[in-house]
Amino acid sequence: MKYCSRCVMPDTKPGVILDENGLCNACRNVTRKKATDWEKRKNDLLELCETIKKKTKDNQYDCIVAVSGGKDSTFQAWYMKEICKMRVLAVCIVPHLRTREGIENLNNMITELGVDTLTITLKPSTYRYLRKKSFEDLGEPNFIEHTSLFAGVSRIAHNYKIPLTVWGEDISFEFGGRLEKKDGSAEDIMSSDVIKDRTITRWYNDDTVKKEYTYWYHRPPSAEMDKFKLTSIYLGYYVWWDGYKNYLKAKEVAKFQPRAKGPLSANILDYDNIDEKLCEINIWLKFLKFGLGRVIDGCCYHIWNGRMTREEAVKKVKALQYEFPIEHFQDFLDFHQLTQEEFWAVAEKFRNLDIWTKTDGRWRLTYPIE
Ligand SMILES: [Zn+2]
Repeated sequence: MKYCSRCVMPDTKPGVILDENGLCNACRNVTRKKATDWEKRKNDLLELCETIKKKTKDNQYDCIVAVSGGKDSTFQAWYMKEICKMRVLAVCIVPHLRTREGIENLNNMITELGVDTLTITLKPSTYRYLRKKSFEDLGEPNFIEHTSLFAGVSRIAHNYKIPLTVWGEDISFEFGGRLEKKDGSAEDIMSSDVIKDRTITRWYNDDTVKKEYTYWYHRPPSAEMDKFKLTSIYLGYYVWWDGYKNYLKAKEVAKFQPRAKGPLSANILDYDNIDEKLCEINIWLKFLKFGLGRVIDGCCYHIWNGRMTREEAVKKVKALQYEFPIEHFQDFLDFHQLTQEEFWAVAEKFRNLDIWTKTDGRWRLTYPIE
């Protein structure tokens, strides 16, 4: 296990490869981002939007933006409406355990930006069962959230024949992942690093997960999307993606508020992933699997955007990475109907013993960051 020499990304994260200078993919992509002609990219996007608007009818939406009440989706909806002058349908696949800030931020986004919003609430028993199985089998409960989000939004695009779906950043590009990007297309989203072509069919049963309950978990076939020329893009390909700047813009245009009580444990950001309560444990599980502590995300982001030095980041990582996200732990247990003992029995199955050592009864990374 080694860490990037410029940021604090470990090479144990899937897809991360350090080059001969010890730089991770994401840092190499920052160099590419700096060399990009962003004015041209913006014009490419405006041109794409003009082409779409010429084809859509007077009473039709031009694009979908998937929203959650988070800073990035608020920024996306604002950008597409105000900069690209598109008729936006915001689509929210509603999280089951929302925070007060998440609810208020979504309401403010709808009011302040003035966009029509369609919300889909998934059948709780099916969603709960799938999340629990995904936790037990993959150590990744939020796989279900991502699947239903990407598939569900594609369903809406197909049902209403809305030509463009706008996603935020390409995670593979921004955070260093498996896929190299050549254009702004998001057609690969179902094979992106969060889905990897996996499906939920392995968990079908005759009770909670009958096939007919899973409409929102399956994207329409590509041939169907192609037939109606339905496409999708990553906005992060066309505008420099920076979560902090998105946060500031969301604050300015849609009264976005950060987490009232400050950052969650092991975190340095009070504005990231604050709309619901179940994702933080999912993120923490990556610490067991890859040694990728929650604090690393925020520190890397600040380094990539010139707001933090590596030295400062290393200090933060050392100080915070072993904290457990206790704040929503009970909610996580209750939602998945797990006891603490059951939770830890599952979680420990995913601890990577190649990178963890137990000393004096405490688990510590065998290769700490320096
Ligand atoms: Zn790096």
